[in-house]
Amino acid sequence: MTGWRGLIAEYAQWFDLRGVSDFVTLQEGNTPLLYAERLSERLSAEVWLKYEGLNPSGSFKDRGMTVAITKAKALGAQTVICGSTGNTSAAAAAYAARADMGCVVLVPDGKIALGKLAQAIVYGATVLQIRGNFDQALNLARELTQHLPMTIVNSINPDRIEGQKTGAFEIVDVLGRAPDILSIPVGNAGNITAYWRGFTEYHLAQRCASLPKMWGFQAEGAAPIVLGRPIENPETIATAIRIGNPASWISALEVVHESLGDIRAVSDDEILDAYRFLARYESVFCEPASAASVAGLLKYGVPDGATVVCVLTGNGLKDPDTALQMSSAPHVVDASLAALLGELG
Ligand SMILES: *Cc1c(COP(=O)(O)O)cnc(C)c1O
Repeated sequence: MTGWRGLIAEYAQWFDLRGVSDFVTLQEGNTPLLYAERLSERLSAEVWLKYEGLNPSGSFKDRGMTVAITKAKALGAQTVICGSTGNTSAAAAAYAARADMGCVVLVPDGKIALGKLAQAIVYGATVLQIRGNFDQALNLARELTQHLPMTIVNSINPDRIEGQKTGAFEIVDVLGRAPDILSIPVGNAGNITAYWRGFTEYHLAQRCASLPKMWGFQAEGAAPIVLGRPIENPETIATAIRIGNPASWISALEVVHESLGDIRAVSDDEILDAYRFLARYESVFCEPASAASVAGLLKYGVPDGATVVCVLTGNGLKDPDTALQMSSAPHVVDASLAALLGELG
């Protein structure tokens, strides 16, 4: 077989695949690394966008899910479960369907983007909207695995982090080096942990001579790591990072420490400005949470001439409500040349 075969096959030597005979894959990964011309100009730097929205279910969660579901299947699991702000449930549902496994997802009632809910339902998962937030959904999912034979596929499952480290591999494979700075949105902090693992493994194997500083960005209303305490009622338009008590909090602090990086906050307005800028000037439609990585660069700046990669974690099509709410509705006009000339002339 020629062409890209999915993450596990392409990066097999970087995984522990004992006991695994077949891979559950949708040929995830190999996403574009786009040079961002206007952003580079604005920041006097060399800025690249890792567009994870082009994964099979539209977010980087697919990288973790191909490994988590492959391993769960190899161990004979029949049902997986997750708590989710949306993208984990979409990915879990997609890969569980591929593996012919059951999938249960717990999502916060009314707080998940429309496209993500649609995906989980159409891929065939059992979707339960709980009257509570993400942190409660995750705790309940964990508890349920004590009572029912289900495997949890949140990023507390170490196979998720393993799969997601390949994002860093791809960046080095394409750039030919590690960037000076990796900028990434932070919710549960699994992905910042995974990228750092990817860079450090490549560095140890001498695939890259240097390591990036890891810059994480949380939304102001959901910034527990920045504030140094859990947030009971996190709020932000960026629902994918609306998390008050990150599961990988400690490892995120280690990443910041080891990489000489930082985790800082950006406001919803700053996130939406970056979201619009990316679509309008770089032709990349990402979801609001993803734009936090760019909002952070625009807010805090970067050293002159630095090579920066922003991880754009999810596809903008997942959240049509936010896109439409931000702009006025298109004019409705009569179907006549005169009416159109009146509008456009
Ligand atoms: C899950 C997710 C995040 C946050 O990733 P963590 O690993 O939870 O920090 C950011 N953006 C999008 C689009 C996501 O789906």
